[in-house]
Amino acid sequence: MSKSTQNRRQFISTSGKAGMALAAMPLMAKINPITSIHSKTKFSVVNEYAQQPLNYSYTALEPFIDAMTMEIHYTKHAATYAKNLADAALAEKLDTQTYSLTDLIKNISHYSPKMRNNAGGHFNHEMFWQMMKPAPASIPTGELNEAINKSFGSLDNFKTVFSDAAKTRFGSGWAWLIIKADNTLAVCSTPNQDNPLMDIAETKGTPILGLDVWEHAYYLKYQNKRPDYINAFWNLVNWEFVQKKYAEVITKK
Ligand code: MN
Repeated sequence: MSKSTQNRRQFISTSGKAGMALAAMPLMAKINPITSIHSKTKFSVVNEYAQQPLNYSYTALEPFIDAMTMEIHYTKHAATYAKNLADAALAEKLDTQTYSLTDLIKNISHYSPKMRNNAGGHFNHEMFWQMMKPAPASIPTGELNEAINKSFGSLDNFKTVFSDAAKTRFGSGWAWLIIKADNTLAVCSTPNQDNPLMDIAETKGTPILGLDVWEHAYYLKYQNKRPDYINAFWNLVNWEFVQKKYAEVITKK
């Protein structure tokens, strides 16, 4: 029996009792049956510490990212970060009901390496799935387009700078498009599961686009050819999501 099937069965076997509690809580948000088993936060409105469902199928990003890579990446690698984050939160007495995942990421230097790796891993992947959508990619418009042109000269130049950051990240890590404190855009990369929001990041900012360049993200299809995977990624960028993130960050300031 697969792990997810097992979790689902455990959930079903306990959901009878939970159902009575739910009926008494009109503001109760939906529980994700697959991931709630990992969550210590039963009744938060959106449990951002739990893995959320994918918005598309494992085959949806083909041929650029193959279904087997997507399935293993989502159900094994990313799910493990979420599970280990829950374990670390419990061990380090983190109140996940009151402390947001973003605040944890921003203050990560106060926590263990296990928390840093798994909070980063979970946070990064939750964003990553939303930063992609089935091809064809759209193009940035409006204020985001203006900001890209201002910081990089053109969309093509931005893609070159970002691709170079992704290609030259030694070992495992991520390439990012970030909004810096002065509201300008920049490209950077982080090692392992670090994120530019972390207080330990070399280049700090709010990420609005990221690319996972761990081998687990591309090796089945692309083997050692990371540049081919990076080129393929441009067919999948969800620019609507990036624009939404951009507007959120700029409006808050
Ligand atoms: Mn990954």
